[in-house]
Amino acid sequence: MISALLYPPRNYTEAEMVHEEETRVLQGLWDYVHKGNEYYMTSSLFPPFYALSIDWSFVLIFTFIDLWLCDFSFFKNSKIQKDRKVSWSLIKKSIKLQFWNCVLWIFPMAAAQWCWVPDLVLPRLAPTLWEFFSQITIYFLMFDMTYFWFHYIHHKNKTLYRWCHSVHHMYSSPFAAAAQHLHPFELFFVGGFITVVPWMFDTHPLTYYTWFLVAQLVSYEVHMGYDFPFALHRFFKFYSGAPAHDMHHLRPLTCFQPWLNYMDRLMGYHITYDDLKAMADEKNRRFGLYDKEDEAGLDKHN
Ligand SMILES: [Zn+2]
Ligand SMILES: [Zn+2]
Repeated sequence: MISALLYPPRNYTEAEMVHEEETRVLQGLWDYVHKGNEYYMTSSLFPPFYALSIDWSFVLIFTFIDLWLCDFSFFKNSKIQKDRKVSWSLIKKSIKLQFWNCVLWIFPMAAAQWCWVPDLVLPRLAPTLWEFFSQITIYFLMFDMTYFWFHYIHHKNKTLYRWCHSVHHMYSSPFAAAAQHLHPFELFFVGGFITVVPWMFDTHPLTYYTWFLVAQLVSYEVHMGYDFPFALHRFFKFYSGAPAHDMHHLRPLTCFQPWLNYMDRLMGYHITYDDLKAMADEKNRRFGLYDKEDEAGLDKHN
């Protein structure tokens, strides 16, 4: 219904089809992506393996940075929790859980999809710019709002927290590999939502796979543990970015919204590292303690 209103279906004559091919901005990209790759892209196994390949690429890149490049000044200065080092034993624990999630959950789901979901038919035309950007924006906002409530309830209900979401909070200083450190139920909810929401609309494969990429990019960005000078949250006040979600791992009853922060701001849960410091300073002033800097270098006997 909404889909038909926003994106009225049209039947093109051959001449109109050729005209659309020549004028659609994304046609070149779509042709480049799908021509010659039809065998892989039409398979119902393609979406899960595409998603997993994005996951493992991020894990590989950031594991390399965390283990071998972390002492370079650019990464050192950008690290949010500077006193915490990412070690191979931490990463290994997370990779182990993800391996079992794959074996027991993702691979069987992919096999079920292979058996029961028909192969995709790739359209000749690329999506219009309107279809492409509006659909990705709708899915982004829907996921962000739905996950906010899922997340909020899993923190406020202690049984749910202990049973499910506490698995993700095994790390109070997140790193990229920890983004997918999830209880199987949470993985089912998150993965299912990202996969199924585009089915509400007649989503073009190019839009669908770009949405997968956007969703995973943002999820890894908020977990990577670095606040880079070019990060999006520095330019858009309502985009959470890594500092807000890092704060959520440090102080789990703050910053619940995964990608944006308007709900946290509305409900008073949006806390920054500057707020934490101001609170600590206020506590010290009121209860008679010096700041660490004031006492640095002074002799103390016990
Ligand atoms: Zn997290
Ligand atoms: Zn949480």
